[in-house]
Amino acid sequence: MAEKLLIAGNWKMHKTPAQTEEFFKEFLPLIEGINNVEILICPPFVSIPSAVEATNNSYVKIGAQNCYFEKEGSFTGEVSPVMLKEVGCKYVIIGHSERRHLFGESDELINKKVISALEEGLKVILCVGETLQERESGLTFTVVETQLKLGLSGVEDNLDRIEIAYEPVWAIGTGVPAQPEEAQEVHRFIYQKLGELNPKKADQVRVLYGGSVKPSNAEAILSQPHIKGVLVGGASLKPDSFAQIVRIGSQLSG
Ligand code: PEP
Repeated sequence: MAEKLLIAGNWKMHKTPAQTEEFFKEFLPLIEGINNVEILICPPFVSIPSAVEATNNSYVKIGAQNCYFEKEGSFTGEVSPVMLKEVGCKYVIIGHSERRHLFGESDELINKKVISALEEGLKVILCVGETLQERESGLTFTVVETQLKLGLSGVEDNLDRIEIAYEPVWAIGTGVPAQPEEAQEVHRFIYQKLGELNPKKADQVRVLYGGSVKPSNAEAILSQPHIKGVLVGGASLKPDSFAQIVRIGSQLSG
């Protein structure tokens, strides 16, 4: 079993290098001594070096929000897993719903990115989740299963280096999270599908919930049996709110 909850922050396109330094000055003292949960922050690419430097002597890990699948070459505007590794990233988020829906990323492209990131030794957080229309059409489980199967194609043996984030698109950035029991139902289904992909490693995967997580709902969400962490957008931008979520995870783990 993966032993610690993963409390991850996705900053999206927020915070310059200077703002990143400011964040950690405030945040690190608030979570000092907490080592029973894993803490991860994923800043924009240009702020990664500041974040790595600021967290050098802490338990906080730094990741990226995206990558390309080639190592190098004529791919204007892209960043490779090799580059992310060298600047100190431990994780990369792949297939976030904003990448899928705003930037048109397909499951096939996402799968290439997953494979490439794993090859470079990064851990991957693969995001899956249905739109409101898909949920209302009763397609939640079909969509999630397809995204999992296509996204993880060929990496079944490496499941122990993958985390999944279940992020219902209708709950991201809306302030309206899924009900904890509603999320739990999908998380249980995801573990069942991961078990079909690799029965030996499925329980080493942490399936995180993402979508309007805040200090006021984190306890109810993290108390569900198949929810092994959270991926937090808006509430990870403020040191005190993200620290509160980390502390809630830590208390539930204590
Ligand atoms: C996210 O960006 O992955 C996310 C879950 O955002 P928010 O917490 O703001 O809904």
